[in-house]
Amino acid sequence: MNVRPHRFPRDAAACPCNAGQWTYHAGSMPLPTTNPLVYLETFGCQMNELDSELVTGHLHALGYRFTDDRDAANIVLFNTCSVREQAENKVFSRVGRLKQEKLAGRRVTIGLLGCVAEREGASLLSRQPEIDLLCGPGELDRLPMLLDNVMKGALVDWRERAAVQGSSTRRTATLSAAEDSLESLDLARAFDPSRGDSDRHAAYVRITRGCNKFCTYCVVPNTRGAEVHRPPDAIVDECKALADQGVIEITLLGQTVNHYVYVHGAAVGSDGRERPPSGPGLTAVGQSDRGAAGRRVTTFADLLRRIHEEVPGIRRLRFVTSYPRDFGDDILEVMQHSPRICRYLHVPAQSGSDRILKRMNRGYTVGQYRAFIERVVAYLPDAGIAGDIIVGFPTETDEDFEQTCKLVRELPFKNNFVFKYSPRPGTVAIDRYADDVAESVKRQRINRLLDIQSEVSRQVHEREIGRNHHVFVEKISQAKTSGSGRVELGWVGDTAQVSGRTPGDLITVFDVPGEATARRLLGTIVPVEVVGAAPRLLWGRWRPENES
Ligand code: SAM
Ligand code: SF4
Repeated sequence: MNVRPHRFPRDAAACPCNAGQWTYHAGSMPLPTTNPLVYLETFGCQMNELDSELVTGHLHALGYRFTDDRDAANIVLFNTCSVREQAENKVFSRVGRLKQEKLAGRRVTIGLLGCVAEREGASLLSRQPEIDLLCGPGELDRLPMLLDNVMKGALVDWRERAAVQGSSTRRTATLSAAEDSLESLDLARAFDPSRGDSDRHAAYVRITRGCNKFCTYCVVPNTRGAEVHRPPDAIVDECKALADQGVIEITLLGQTVNHYVYVHGAAVGSDGRERPPSGPGLTAVGQSDRGAAGRRVTTFADLLRRIHEEVPGIRRLRFVTSYPRDFGDDILEVMQHSPRICRYLHVPAQSGSDRILKRMNRGYTVGQYRAFIERVVAYLPDAGIAGDIIVGFPTETDEDFEQTCKLVRELPFKNNFVFKYSPRPGTVAIDRYADDVAESVKRQRINRLLDIQSEVSRQVHEREIGRNHHVFVEKISQAKTSGSGRVELGWVGDTAQVSGRTPGDLITVFDVPGEATARRLLGTIVPVEVVGAAPRLLWGRWRPENES
């Protein structure tokens, strides 16, 4: 079908292009083709934040400029999250607004990156022709090419504006090639020029892509593909490069970060280079320097130890998200003996009911989860622990929910993120179980759990009063000029309030003398004495005299 360039009609269904051969609509073409101005908004998890940072660095190096003003941009990119329906709705409402602007004559390119692009697939371009390009999370290295195709201004077939894997393949056939170019995106990272002061000193480093767990409620294994572990040398080199650029805090990222395992030489390409091994790899966990067929293995504990020893410039090493199963003592031992590894775990339980955990396909019981937390506390009594809970999973009864309340009440967690179950297309749960817990019941349960957690968090925070911590300063929370308390604090003059985190991830707020000092402290680690506590934060007193 030969379709002339045209503006998409108000009623997309009436568009002649929707006959299957969808062709580029010149009406959505942006004007400038040199140094276009990009607005990028990120939804969802830390993995998405890192992806956005890499995309920003990549595009910036190619001459694209960035703006915080969506109205001024030539290109609007949404790096999307598909874990819950609400996150998707937010993106589509933004796209809806831009669609109206396009219809009114605004020339802007709209791109969807990340998990929604992957989950919806290329057909979204014909269903919503106001969207110009789609780029899945495993294809981000191809974004400049997609933008180029859109900006050519010629007729471009939709296949040249969409880079998605399609959930059915889970990145198998083209895995090696795709992983190679993705690997170079991670390795060639350039700092996002828009980063703030504290962000310049903190960075995420991906160690594992994808997930092999298939929890029945979760879209991630479909949108991010199979688990693939990055080579340890590449990870250590990236940490060194970041330290050289002034980064002092690194957070290692993986959906099940403790399952990291690299079997050396397991996959070597025709060019003689090692390819990242894909999961499951669990059989190798805990076996240091050994592996299938006598191969050398780097476990997660080995990787932590290497970064700690080889990159001393990183004064804080953290990792998220841990999976409650297969978390070996070897990891806890490395944490115990490595002062620069933060004693912080984010390790979601999801439910306190064995029946629900089984339906979720989580692979552990509540008893095993408790035993794991007891092991953590025995090794690391001062660890900060956080989790996630889903309420209203299909068939969750009052009795199931009471068991979750009991678990949350009894575990000394600093916080729990509580989510209402959201049925997601492409998951096992949506096909197998009706979403049968009423919205009002989900809401009541979420509120009840948040109340319980708030009380537990208050107790956890109160235990810290009188202790001394090193706090990584992240934000200036408030500037004050009032004089009260200044003498007691040890200075006379203006006061500014800053906030940061302890190694156990407890938010700590404290005063410093004036805004200039606050700015100087951003992105540094300073000694603080805890003088008060609330459910969500600690109040501290800056103790510069304790600086080591
Ligand atoms: N990989 C991590 C793990 O297994 O703990 C979590 C990653 S997931 C993207 C982040 C959190 O979103 C999960 O821990 C879960 O609590 C929540 N989540 C995922 N799918 C959900 C759904 N369909 N409805 C509600 N919450 C969901
Ligand atoms: Fe989703 Fe489960 Fe994988 Fe976490 S472990 S990303 S919840 S499938």
